Amino acid sequence: MTCPETKPDSIIQTVGDLCKLCYTCVRDCPAKAIRVMNGQAQIIPERCITCGNCVRVCRQKAKRYTDSVPETLDILKSPAKEKVAIVAPSFPAEFHDMKTPQLVAMLRKSGFTKACQVAYGADLVAREYQRLVSEDKGGGMIATSCPAIVTYIEKYQPEMIKSLAPICSPMVASARVAKERFGKESKIVFIGPCIAKKNEMLRYPDEIDSVLTFEELRRLFADISLAPEQFAASTDGFDPPHPGLGMLFPISRGLLQAADLKEDLLSQNVVASDGKHGFIPAIEEFSTGDLQTRLLELLCCKGCINGPGASNEISQYKKRKLVSSYAAENIGRKSDSDKDSRISLAPQYHPDDVRAKKPSGKEITEVLAKMGKTRTEDELDCGACGYPSCRDHAVAILNGLAESEMCLPYVIERLKKSLADLSVSNKQLEKAKQALINAEKLASMGQLSAGIAHEINNPLGIILLNASLVLESIPEKSENYEDMKLIVEQAEQCKKIVSGLLNFARKNKVLFQQINVPEFLSERCLKTIIRPDKIKLDFENNGSDPFAEIDPDQMVQVMTNLIVNAIEAMPGGGKLLVSFKDSPGEIRIGVKDEGSGIPKEHLNKIFEPFFTTKQIGKGTGLGLAVTYGIVKMHHGRIEVSSNCNPAKGQTGTQFTIIIPRKAKQY
Ligand code: ADP
Ligand code: MG
Repeated sequence: MTCPETKPDSIIQTVGDLCKLCYTCVRDCPAKAIRVMNGQAQIIPERCITCGNCVRVCRQKAKRYTDSVPETLDILKSPAKEKVAIVAPSFPAEFHDMKTPQLVAMLRKSGFTKACQVAYGADLVAREYQRLVSEDKGGGMIATSCPAIVTYIEKYQPEMIKSLAPICSPMVASARVAKERFGKESKIVFIGPCIAKKNEMLRYPDEIDSVLTFEELRRLFADISLAPEQFAASTDGFDPPHPGLGMLFPISRGLLQAADLKEDLLSQNVVASDGKHGFIPAIEEFSTGDLQTRLLELLCCKGCINGPGASNEISQYKKRKLVSSYAAENIGRKSDSDKDSRISLAPQYHPDDVRAKKPSGKEITEVLAKMGKTRTEDELDCGACGYPSCRDHAVAILNGLAESEMCLPYVIERLKKSLADLSVSNKQLEKAKQALINAEKLASMGQLSAGIAHEINNPLGIILLNASLVLESIPEKSENYEDMKLIVEQAEQCKKIVSGLLNFARKNKVLFQQINVPEFLSERCLKTIIRPDKIKLDFENNGSDPFAEIDPDQMVQVMTNLIVNAIEAMPGGGKLLVSFKDSPGEIRIGVKDEGSGIPKEHLNKIFEPFFTTKQIGKGTGLGLAVTYGIVKMHHGRIEVSSNCNPAKGQTGTQFTIIIPRKAKQY
């Protein structure tokens, strides 16, 4: 099933078809802004801080961000006089496959009229940090140029907005400088490694016109067939203003170095933390006062060089080296930042509390119990679901962010149970299949027998009638009398078989009546049975409601067949037990003997017409076939259990007839 994609207004979206639900994005989302629903990991736009971790970690490429290439191409084609590319200071780590002048030449060829460095804005920002720290109004301050961190604080720690340094990011500072220098009407496109800048841009609609990631810029170059080889490596580089130490901003602690502030492990006056797992505890400790520092520098990625909009071909350390080498080579030029001291560095911060409610301990315990976690040791905290602990997972379920199926041990347990259930159903299916084969066999034999019986019935009647007439007309002493008598007897036996066959083929209609079954059994069935003395007959009535709708004449035949078989199975004598039991919907009649038992290989043949193990002339092999037909017409079933091995205990057979209490009409 494909999930509905995330609302188009969210910058990062899930591509439903590609999501394989590995929970990696859930695990790596610092804001827990990914909801697993209908088997898909969807971004919740109002909780998302656009850090882009999910984009970076998803191997299936099931997370994508809004494509700004078309919008940028429109700007480049527009009649605006100045189209300014402001390029993030991490560019040396991305475009290591070309010289800086080649990159700038490609930007110009694309249609940009100016190419400037955001590192210059970083210089302005660093200088402002330096000033604020030197003024030291006390109380501590969070320094960050990372829009994901700003959004995180606005959404999850809005009380901490007051601690955010009142300084905009280098991107915004650079854009303001560009507007100042190249005119208010100029179009500004930021190019960097960061997806969150697309979100930050929305706060500064007058300053920034588009945000391209490095990945998008490479795509734009490819779209218009630009490659570095087409340009000389010695052309002019970036347009002024030229940056200073702001070039180090994209490296962890780069802001501190640019502002000439040292992370001081002894005094803890300045503390820096980076990475998706580091910044949240740092903010929490800072908010509770546990982390007493004058300046806390935070970055969501491990330095902007590792942003999710950058390619990942080279290692973190190599990227770091490329940025610092570029800074070292170009630091000779003095920054022009003094000239822009009038530029406003005011930021835009807006509280936007989206914190989920905290469920009660009881609610959490209930959710855990549903996942089979009733004891503390059941809480494995394995992290497979993407949450750090089973309790965090339960809280997310209660807030509609997660599903219990994300718990691997719980799913494995359920799978094991389903497997066991499946093997039981398989066995039942096999039994049902066997029963169906037997029923089919019986049905076709029934048809055949009915046809034959019907044809034979009339001539047989004539034979019997005429033979009886002849028998009556000849004296008992005559020579032919005995022969004639044998003919009549055998014709009568044939008549019996034919009527049995017709019964078996369901030629008779069933006439249901409300009957007191135990009474019927003892009065009509058992009393008329002729049995040798050595057979002890018992009747057990364990029923609660004796009434059921049956055809008594046909049921007499059933009981007679079963009882006669039981007696014949005990030539040496034994106990014969007839029993009655019931449930609200069914009645159960049992016939149990202590006879020879039925071998396993005969069990699925005994209901076949003409199957008999008795001597010729003794058995017709029709008793059970007829019984089966009658029980089926009552919409009932027959169960047989038998033991023919004395080593396994008392031999004997138990037939149970199960019939619905209320008749079902055909
Ligand atoms: P018949 O009694 O004419 O042989 P049935 O259809 O009544 O035909 O029974 C078929 C066969 O099933 C019998 O020949 C016998 O082998 C077996 N059978 C039926 N009932 C029992 C029983 N109670 N104990 C042992 N075998 C039985
Ligand atoms: Mg029989």
